[in-house]
Amino acid sequence: MAGVPDAVVKAFDRRGGRALMLGHVHPDADVLGTLLALGAALEGRGWRVIYGGPHAPPASLAFLPGIERYEVLDRIEDGFDVAVLTDCPNPERTEGRLEAARRAARTIVDIDHHPDNRLYGDVNWIDVTAAATGEMIYRLLGALGLPLTPAIATNLLTAIHTDTGSFRYSNVTPETLRIAADLVQAGAEPAAISSALYERRTPDALRLLADTLGRVELSADGRIAWLALPAGLVPDHFVESEELVNYPRSIASVQVACLLREHGGRVKVSLRGKGAVDLTRVAARFGGGGHANAAGCTLPGPLAAATSQVLGAVREALPAAARGA
Ligand code: AMP
Ligand code: MN
Ligand code: MN
Repeated sequence: MAGVPDAVVKAFDRRGGRALMLGHVHPDADVLGTLLALGAALEGRGWRVIYGGPHAPPASLAFLPGIERYEVLDRIEDGFDVAVLTDCPNPERTEGRLEAARRAARTIVDIDHHPDNRLYGDVNWIDVTAAATGEMIYRLLGALGLPLTPAIATNLLTAIHTDTGSFRYSNVTPETLRIAADLVQAGAEPAAISSALYERRTPDALRLLADTLGRVELSADGRIAWLALPAGLVPDHFVESEELVNYPRSIASVQVACLLREHGGRVKVSLRGKGAVDLTRVAARFGGGGHANAAGCTLPGPLAAATSQVLGAVREALPAAARGA
């Protein structure tokens, strides 16, 4: 963990500016929690802040304090001092909003923990050792001397909670847990956050889950498990609120888990690993990216062809002893 760069502190270290908090496609808790937390802290110092991005937040994150402020941005007005992007490795993941933000804002600030970040900002702060950008925004608020309110702490703890799989993944460090402890001290409630994230199913979600999990397949050597979901099989909101890729991942022998979801003629792929393979390299073969153990990409359909291409790439990437699936 390095310190917060001076240029990042400087971008925010004054009263009463205007900030655009710009989210990435299909926003998750890391991007939403950090934008909402930093925005709320700046508002406490007299800034005016707009929050938004190409897509609406998922219903499952409706509990994040301030989420009602997050808009789907079709056009971006002028006159921002800064536009802030968190958790967003490249311009494509804004679907054109970054270009609009460059015209509307004096300074673009890029705060991220993805190793493949393209450094598209005027100011770039990338810390690949951070489990979530939630950790980085926590440190930034400390460097700025901005207080942690319960609302800010809830947003940041949720960001860290989800990107670490509830503190279960290999990205968890002593610093992650120290920051989480401090956020709880500041008023974030772990039980309430866990319940809001994981105990909000409708009764029919369990039936859908039963139908869906029957489709999980396992390679002959047990190291690759995948779940291929044809278009229209289950409702969008179900896939968005369930981290379905965690089920194939939960098999003991599995080194790489894949979720392939057909949607609008394309196939969105989520890859999860346990350290044997650098999944950013697998995802990059199909124009995607992410982290070593959590990456994603989108392929053209149909589903069966995309599935065999992705499984082929995973097999190739696995160490020789692990092949033969
Ligand atoms: P997901 O499987 O969608 O939860 O994404 C896991 C990780 O991979 C996240 O860090 C994403 O930023 C990254 N990722 C997912 N899809 C893409 C993509 N098409 N291009 C680049 N990175 C991606
Ligand atoms: Mn994200
Ligand atoms: Mn993240």
